[in-house]
Amino acid sequence: MSKNTPKAIRGTQDIFGPDAEAFAFVVETFERVRRLYRFRRAEFPVFEKTEVFARSLGETTDVVSKEMYSFEDRGGDSLTLRPEFTAGIARAYLTNGWQQHAPLKLATHGPLFRYERPQKGRYRQFHQIDAEIIGAAEPQADVELLAMADQLLRELGIEGVTLHLNTLGDASSREAWRAALIAYFGKVRGDLSEDSQERLDKNPLRILDSKDPRDKVFLPDAPKIDEYLSGEALAFFESVTSGLDAAGVAWTRAESLVRGLDYYRHTAFEFVPDEGSAAAEALGSQSTVLGGGRYDGLMESLGGPATPAVGWAAGIERLAMLVGEQAGDPVEFAVIPIGADAQLKAVEVAQTLRMTQFSTEIFARGNMKKRFNRADQAGAKAAIIIGDDEIASGRLQFKDLATGEQTSLSIDEIIEKGWDLRFDEDLGALGDRIDELDEEVRTLPEPR
Ligand code: ATP
Ligand code: MG
Repeated sequence: MSKNTPKAIRGTQDIFGPDAEAFAFVVETFERVRRLYRFRRAEFPVFEKTEVFARSLGETTDVVSKEMYSFEDRGGDSLTLRPEFTAGIARAYLTNGWQQHAPLKLATHGPLFRYERPQKGRYRQFHQIDAEIIGAAEPQADVELLAMADQLLRELGIEGVTLHLNTLGDASSREAWRAALIAYFGKVRGDLSEDSQERLDKNPLRILDSKDPRDKVFLPDAPKIDEYLSGEALAFFESVTSGLDAAGVAWTRAESLVRGLDYYRHTAFEFVPDEGSAAAEALGSQSTVLGGGRYDGLMESLGGPATPAVGWAAGIERLAMLVGEQAGDPVEFAVIPIGADAQLKAVEVAQTLRMTQFSTEIFARGNMKKRFNRADQAGAKAAIIIGDDEIASGRLQFKDLATGEQTSLSIDEIIEKGWDLRFDEDLGALGDRIDELDEEVRTLPEPR
């Protein structure tokens, strides 16, 4: 690299190798699971008018006040690279008139941007998977959304992560709790962090979300929402918890969990690694892997009609750190040409195999031994060897790399063989998967 070569922007990552495989595994698993719950896939712009985020997240939130990438475009509009999905999705719901689809279950994934201090598990460009149910006021929506998150983590093979659940109550509960928090923290104002002194005036709930040790000492004895919950809010929360129990989703009550954004009402939750678990070890202090809640007030802050909704987002990089090494996809056929004339035939054969849906790679570099080694490392099931004799006869050498058996076959026979090998393998994998699911169902927690 010369001194002139530009460097990557601080806090961005070039993801490759096992990390990229783990990233893809997270996204593919999410795609599979969201289909089981019939969430519809959608794509959204990476940037929006700044007000979309400023109005919905709250001007005083960390994200809006410190972390946004905002800029003026050539037309003089203030635009912002999305720091989260929900606000933009709410904007899309309103501008497209998607009310007609309510309740609308949406799933998406992609990059987000926050100007934060980069460290392990914390980047300036990071990625999330995201799921939302819009236009659904009933607690069953919260339950379904959480069951989906829980199943996703299971199917990713992530263990030692627990759902921490809280309610923020409805508007009146939240108001009463807020007043109590102001009274409580007001007495120790001078001992709080500068940020929290400011929060005390603007949004005292957020002090509970503080990671500053000066604030943390006061958190255990702070007033709890339960003392202020209205009957309605309590009933809502109880429907959520009994639904989770019925679905076999394990959860734990987290009385001071508030989430950092202004728009949350009722249900708020995070999936957090258990103390001392391998997951906690892997993530260090950046521990929440998935978070969300109900945001019944958000659409109104964007000038829309009152629209109940609930959603979550999870950091793909953080999930990828928990899924462990993922092998890349193996190649099925290795095509090995011998001699200059075989090169073109190899291209033709490889193309035919790929068109018939077999992953195929041509190994044309190095000596024969090297080529077979590389085909082996790539996980090839069979090698197709092409020399002058094969070009003349039109029959190719087919070597089953598991048995070492070598036969002379036509391209049609090779395709036939390929399907047989694929069928045997799929059947084996299906058997393993059924055993796995059997085991999983047996270990589901008993309904309470
Ligand atoms: P934290 O408390 O870690 O700052 P947050 O509350 O800001 O998280 P959310 O806005 O709830 O995070 O985003 C949901 C998820 O997105 C987080 O749980 C995490 O997995 C991921 N995430 C958030 N910020 C970043 C970041 N800067 N880099 C990587 N992942 C992130
Ligand atoms: Mg944050």
